[in-house]
Amino acid sequence: MSCECEVLHRIANNLERYCFPCDSDNIPRNGVYFLFQRGEKSHQADRVVRVGTHTGDNQLQSRLKQHFNQENKDRSIFRKNIGRALLSKSNDTFLKHWELDLTTRKAKDEYGPLIDFNYQKAIEHQVSLYIRENFTFSTFPIASKEERLNIESKLISTLSWCEECKPSSDWLGNCSPKSKIVQSGLWLVNELYKTPMTPSEIDSLSEKIKGCSAHKG
Ligand SMILES: [Zn+2]
Repeated sequence: MSCECEVLHRIANNLERYCFPCDSDNIPRNGVYFLFQRGEKSHQADRVVRVGTHTGDNQLQSRLKQHFNQENKDRSIFRKNIGRALLSKSNDTFLKHWELDLTTRKAKDEYGPLIDFNYQKAIEHQVSLYIRENFTFSTFPIASKEERLNIESKLISTLSWCEECKPSSDWLGNCSPKSKIVQSGLWLVNELYKTPMTPSEIDSLSEKIKGCSAHKG
């Protein structure tokens, strides 16, 4: 699997790279994204630490904004996981409140009185700063939802099976309370260790991406 993963890293590292805040006009409306993190290397390149996509049509840009810009952990599992690791690293007891999902009115009524919202806001801000300072991303377009989800799953599995892709010793994810993050070295808990991409699937993905950028240019 290391060989496929190496090709995958070459593809991901050759894509145009963005950091936040970014000019979202350049981001496809539908597609898949790779996240890279400062200090994480693999296959002589920047290591992919997360792959993601979106379900709703034309939502890639807003999905990325939910991760990087919108200070609401309950709208982004990625933000939630960064916060978990930061809180866990500093042995902060607020972690148990960070875990609560306050999306529904019922949950807000039930848990709201327990939570120091000023402190939660400060943690959200800390998560935003950490993400902006440490992560970059690249994207490629995929129009169909089924195809996006299929590619996302296979990319994640390819990364998780790779024996060469290992996190650095001071990777923040090592402090995560989620064992799947610690074990996989990825900011992911779903689609790990399932069906990876075959070499020919990686080839056709590469051709597809080249076709898109040739068309764009
Ligand atoms: Zn790898």
